[in-house]
Amino acid sequence: MSEDKLKIERIHKGTVIDHIDAGYALTILNLTGFDESPNLMTIGVNVPSKKYGKKDIIKIEGEFLNEMQMQQISILSPNATISLIDDYAVIEKKKVKIPHIIKKLILCTNKTCITNSQKEPIETEFLVLEEKPLKIQCTYCDRIYKLEEIMFTSKQKTEKKIKQKIQL
Ligand SMILES: [Zn+2]
Repeated sequence: MSEDKLKIERIHKGTVIDHIDAGYALTILNLTGFDESPNLMTIGVNVPSKKYGKKDIIKIEGEFLNEMQMQQISILSPNATISLIDDYAVIEKKKVKIPHIIKKLILCTNKTCITNSQKEPIETEFLVLEEKPLKIQCTYCDRIYKLEEIMFTSKQKTEKKIKQKIQL
């Protein structure tokens, strides 16, 4: 067993989100809403990684990701891998994939953008120009955003802006 596996408890049934960009684990928990789960969670921040130097890892007992949560993770950490665990064994492993077009998940902060129209607001849509570092463009007003400028349309959490790095 490798060193970083020993540091974090194995889970019986649930999800492991691995290879999260270092410092983003708590932002991911907040955005996906798992921070409100009553289930057992183990979170590793700045775990040594051979491939990336440092990484974050989240293990959640009894929870599985939906498509929206997978997309949210892909925006924050395009290298993340998702493993589904049953009876302590990995039954499925997949890499997150950032969509070519991101719909609804992100707000355009341009006040004059049609997506912010008071009369007939329409759902946001962004074209992914670059995955890493992330660069996206509003389909309607052409404004370009970098990762640290993004505002997510997460339920009840629209006020929260991503923090680039979380220092513990
Ligand atoms: Zn816009």
